[in-house]
Amino acid sequence: MPLRIGVPRETAPGERRAALVPDAVARLVKAGAEVVVESGAGEQAYVSDAAYQAAGAVTGTRADAWGADVVARVQGPAREDLPLLGAGRTVIGFLRPLDDPQGMAALAATGATALAMELVPRTTRAQKMDALSAMATVAGYRAVLLAAEALPKFFPLLTTAAGTMRPAKVLVLGAGVAGLQAIATARRLGAVVSAYDVRAAAAEEARSLGAQFVQLDLDTAGAEGGGGYAAALDEQRQRRQVELLAEHVATSDVVISTALIPGRAAPLLVSENGVRRMAPGSVVVDLAAPNGGNCALTRPGEVVDAGGVRVFGPLNLPGEMPVHASQMYARTLSAMITEFMREGAWAPAEDDDIYRAACVTRGGEVVNERVRGLLQPVPA
Ligand code: NAD
Repeated sequence: MPLRIGVPRETAPGERRAALVPDAVARLVKAGAEVVVESGAGEQAYVSDAAYQAAGAVTGTRADAWGADVVARVQGPAREDLPLLGAGRTVIGFLRPLDDPQGMAALAATGATALAMELVPRTTRAQKMDALSAMATVAGYRAVLLAAEALPKFFPLLTTAAGTMRPAKVLVLGAGVAGLQAIATARRLGAVVSAYDVRAAAAEEARSLGAQFVQLDLDTAGAEGGGGYAAALDEQRQRRQVELLAEHVATSDVVISTALIPGRAAPLLVSENGVRRMAPGSVVVDLAAPNGGNCALTRPGEVVDAGGVRVFGPLNLPGEMPVHASQMYARTLSAMITEFMREGAWAPAEDDDIYRAACVTRGGEVVNERVRGLLQPVPA
């Protein structure tokens, strides 16, 4: 039986991405799959039903798309979608497994297999399925545009008959995938950019993009976790880091913060005092907002005004740039699906390292150890 892949319309507020775009559909059809797209699923990303059909998909109802063997999602299923899933079926998307363990338990109860794009390992073989990096690239770029739009100043140095305008100073905290893209974008707009990260390896990458690297007088031993990720600092060093960074925050026009530690709340890097020392009109864009934020004043999904300094806590910047974000996401998702297909059928090997790492629920159980740990009752 050929694999049947469904693409239901995304229903989360502000979510404009589509899980698959026509190019990815054509690839999957070529690999032997059938693709059924809910009518209108691509509308917010400017993809028409006709474009999906031309790529080899059929369009149908919500129930048709949810009824497929593999359901391709950007965001995980909403509660009302769960009855549409069942044993023997697979759903793939950004499921927020570590942020929403109860949601994973509810998903497990449907009997469906759930694969979380967030849990794809960062190995060479899995690079083409690295949806987190793809979306971080979009978010880093958009964060700078958001800041440039909000800042009541030019980004570039301008020398005109009406005077010389000094370039904006942008500080990027966390020089991972999103941070590096933010550095590159802010540099292209002509800002003077500095960057900071706890990982020593980030310094060279930030410098190669034209940023000055901020060196703090801080012991960062043990701050590098596995797989290129950072590890949490102890409380004392974390406090010291915030204090030392406040000097740099205070003299910046724009702070873009992107620091994350997998499976934990985002580290606090920008104190309220640091923000209040910035010049009125300055802007903070906190990309860590969905994980609690890097700035003490961040309110996820809101804009906070602190004495004329605005702190933005956007929750879904990739969703605001749906054409390229959908293209990039669909590329990673279709790469994952085809990786697990054999002769047109769904045939993941149970011991495949990528499959095992991404798998959150299977056979009615939550199978991911970290998610299981989060579901354990805390001992009294
Ligand atoms: P991330 O989103 O988990 O974190 C963003 C950045 O925040 C990281 O650079 C991290 O070091 C930094 N950070 C965490 N705590 C901090 C603190 N207290 N102070 C300052 N900075 C802090 O990370 P990411 O962007 O997904 O990627 C991190 C690294 O992994 C990068 O080096 C990236 O190049 C690498 N990477 C490798 C692969 C691969 O090998 N396939 C894929 C993607 C990324």
